[in-house]
Amino acid sequence: MQRFRFPADAPDEEELALRSEVRSFLQQQRNNGGFTPCADCWVSGANPAFSARLGEQGWLGMTWPKQYGGHGRPALHRLVVTEELLAAGAPVAAHWVADRQTGAQILRFGTEAQKQEILPSMAAGTSFAAIGMSEPQAGSDLAAVVTRATQNADGNWIMNGRKIWSTGAHISDYMIVLARTSAADGRNRQVGLSQFLVPLKTPGIEITGIRDLAGSIHFNETLFDNVKLSADALLGTEGNGWAQCMGELATERSGPERYLTTFVILEQALLALRGRLDDHGVAAVGRLIAHLTSLRRMSRGIAQLIQRGDSPDTEAALVKQMGNRVERDILNEVRRLLATLPRSQWPGSLSALLDDATLRLPSHTLRGGTTEILRGIIARQLGLR
Ligand SMILES: Cc1cc2nc3c(=O)[nH]c(=O)nc-3n(C[C@H](O)[C@H](O)[C@H](O)COP(=O)(O)OP(=O)(O)OC[C@H]3O[C@@H](n4cnc5c(N)ncnc54)[C@H](O)[C@@H]3O)c2cc1C
Repeated sequence: MQRFRFPADAPDEEELALRSEVRSFLQQQRNNGGFTPCADCWVSGANPAFSARLGEQGWLGMTWPKQYGGHGRPALHRLVVTEELLAAGAPVAAHWVADRQTGAQILRFGTEAQKQEILPSMAAGTSFAAIGMSEPQAGSDLAAVVTRATQNADGNWIMNGRKIWSTGAHISDYMIVLARTSAADGRNRQVGLSQFLVPLKTPGIEITGIRDLAGSIHFNETLFDNVKLSADALLGTEGNGWAQCMGELATERSGPERYLTTFVILEQALLALRGRLDDHGVAAVGRLIAHLTSLRRMSRGIAQLIQRGDSPDTEAALVKQMGNRVERDILNEVRRLLATLPRSQWPGSLSALLDDATLRLPSHTLRGGTTEILRGIIARQLGLR
């Protein structure tokens, strides 16, 4: 049985300075009306102008090489920035996927021309990306995708199929699509899948928004009808799409967006409840903070592993699974603690934030891998299956 790895490393001076710089920037933005805090801000809080402001600050594409518009900084610096943005409830959804995973995939598998053309605008916060993995019959069972790409004699690809739930596709410039390029090898359906970097303005692509429980449209269905793609749209190696996709999941699952989504609500509630908590309330808040502290420590360890070139998929599954539970516990605990306070004494936006977050809560344990699937991954690492 392999153990879980979460290397520890104390923050250095540069990190501490960066954290206070980001905090002052966010305070200033809020004071100037640059944004209103939202829960779930990395999925439903798209604000391209705000993303461009972060790009100007040098806080997007932070770990990418400077020659492609990045800033050559360590993964822990990016973690500091993302933590502060999420804790403040800043509207980061527009650039989130490009900055978190699409840029890294292009860096690893893209052509030199793609890196030069696409990465600088992603780092500037002016070009966005979406994830094209799920299909109506392929979610947890991702190898069941039926979107197909076939190569013509002239080397171009023709794509047909349907992706669903792609967050931000309606405002994105690119989507990395997982498609079948050849038949499965008997029962091994992971064979014959490939990734494509698809410009979303290509003729034959139709994107339709899907309204969620909270009433907002942030994810989409995307149809591909005989979409003609150039030969270099194939990202990486033909047939290696499954492995490339799995490589993305450590970055997709391990970050602070898996445990800080409802943090803005906890913070506002604690301001209102200051001096009014009984012993049980204090213990409940202490428990939440202890969990959040552990998750931060684990997420920090994963950032270091990714920096070293490791792919800590199982550790990431653990962070997401535990983090989703803490996000739920925060909402339940805040609701219980606030019951002691007349609504007229709640801070202005707290009620609306709480309602909105409650409607979005069911999606936390679906997006990025369901609880059952993550527990299966963790169980395998423990040697239980
Ligand atoms: C807000 C949101 C944003 C999303 N954004 C994106 C995106 O940008 N791009 C993208 O490609 N997808 C996205 N998704 C889709 C997401 O990845 C899928 O919803 C998820 O993988 C689950 O797939 P499914 O919805 O088909 O559910 P299913 O796979 O049908 O699962 C339904 C239930 O059955 C359980 N189940 C399934 N298989 C097993 C098993 N083998 N063992 C035990 N239990 C099992 C699941 O745990 C779940 O409880 C998003 C989803 C949400 C909610």
